[in-house]
Amino acid sequence: MSESLATVSYIGAIILFILSLGGLSNPESSRRGNLYGMIGMTIAVLATVFGPRVSMAGIPWIIGAMVVGGSIGLYAARKVQMTQMPELVAMMHSLVGLAACLVGFANYIDPIAALNLSSAEKAIHEIEVYLGILIGAVTFAGSLIAFGKLSGKIGGKPLLLPGRHFLNLIGLLVVIVFGWQFLHAETISAGMFALTVMTVIALLFGMHMVLAIGGADMPVVVSMLNSYSGWAAAATGFMLNNDLLIVTGALVGSSGAILSYIMCRAMNRNFISVIAGGFGSGGGKPAQKAEGDAQPAGEVVAISAADTAELLREAKSVIIVPGYGMAVAQAQHTVFEITQVLREKGVNVRFGIHPVAGRMPGHMNVLLAEAKVPYDIVMEMDEINADFPDTDVAIVIGANDIVNPAAQEVPDSPIAGMPVLEVWKAKTSIMMKRSMATGYAGVDNPLFYKENNRMLFGDAKKMLDEVLTALKA
Ligand code: NDP
Repeated sequence: MSESLATVSYIGAIILFILSLGGLSNPESSRRGNLYGMIGMTIAVLATVFGPRVSMAGIPWIIGAMVVGGSIGLYAARKVQMTQMPELVAMMHSLVGLAACLVGFANYIDPIAALNLSSAEKAIHEIEVYLGILIGAVTFAGSLIAFGKLSGKIGGKPLLLPGRHFLNLIGLLVVIVFGWQFLHAETISAGMFALTVMTVIALLFGMHMVLAIGGADMPVVVSMLNSYSGWAAAATGFMLNNDLLIVTGALVGSSGAILSYIMCRAMNRNFISVIAGGFGSGGGKPAQKAEGDAQPAGEVVAISAADTAELLREAKSVIIVPGYGMAVAQAQHTVFEITQVLREKGVNVRFGIHPVAGRMPGHMNVLLAEAKVPYDIVMEMDEINADFPDTDVAIVIGANDIVNPAAQEVPDSPIAGMPVLEVWKAKTSIMMKRSMATGYAGVDNPLFYKENNRMLFGDAKKMLDEVLTALKA
């Protein structure tokens, strides 16, 4: 393929990537967005592999690597459960970071890479290598820890080392000093020493950064690492002089940064305090009941599936709030069937979606779209929160943190200030979950004890099946 055809293909691929990002911003156009992305990536790979910078001798190696990598990717994508997606994404980010590190080292020791460069160009090239490996190593180590936390292999509790900010600052200073030595290294081996020291510090920093972040902030970390992986790819693009990789990396880096910002706003956190760490303790513990002022007061009242169906049948308006438990139970199809039955009876049924419901951005939207729930009854938190006081029944399906009134009522709660769906303002709220356990953030939920709240204990799918049978009876 000629240089000019490769350039035109690259521009086409970039346009498709931009259209893809645009499409992915809305559930209705997201399939089209995905398609644009796939076509763009196919063009990009073909134009690179058959472009002017790859020799014929290298092509079988590249194809061999693509078959191996593609098969692993295909296997992982087919095998992964929807609830494991964030872990898979974290793992993918770590690979981008690792690739940036390997390309950086290879580029530094490659005798051809710095050939014919003026001293200024050589310095710029070395800065690219140093920064590329730095970003790559932080992304790699941080993403591996995020993978461990999201998959439950590492606890969600933040690791708060004494003087941790000071340790990070020392690390930064060492990285700057060795960066200076790297730029002034006389020999490749002297440069390799500085690079290796910096890489070790960057790996430790990446691990420390994510270990210090508590479970409740993990959504922001996932999108932040997404952004880092984009910048790592852009750095690789600079090292390889590949414009497509620079632009694509910058697109991923900036869209990840925007998503992190949006999620911080949705959780009423500021980005710096997320990075500084220490928020949220990791979930799964039973909630504590009424002791002392800060504890929730009141009785827990259970309800049966039949009584839930009765309440729903009599309601004029219902808001369904899905959360992580709906994804675990794979209850979305039954939820849709119940929605259809109620709508046929003239009940106004809508869905309230919290921006961090589930375990990844858009998690609930994907599940509801899969179950064919019409988009026009799926509302974002800001659109629907004011409607709870006029709602007869708010039914919470396997959600916990995102409906926790402690965010508004308990000033020293770890989730204080986080915007939540105000389900307790409905005439009756029904909380569907298996036990009194806390959610991901590990924070007690006073909603369980509210007078107008009922607990429907059991697996979401099983209980909803019972509700549906009772509704149809
Ligand atoms: P939560 O984790 O707060 O609560 C989910 C609840 O579902 C649990 O309390 C659990 O209670 C219940 N549950 C689990 N399995 C089932 C089942 N089979 N049937 C019925 N109930 C079940 O989820 P939310 O969606 O409310 O909130 C999301 C949390 O995850 C937030 O803290 C958010 O910060 C965090 N997070 C979000 C990410 C994102 O990008 N969206 C990424 C990473 C973390 P029980 O065990 O009693 O059944």
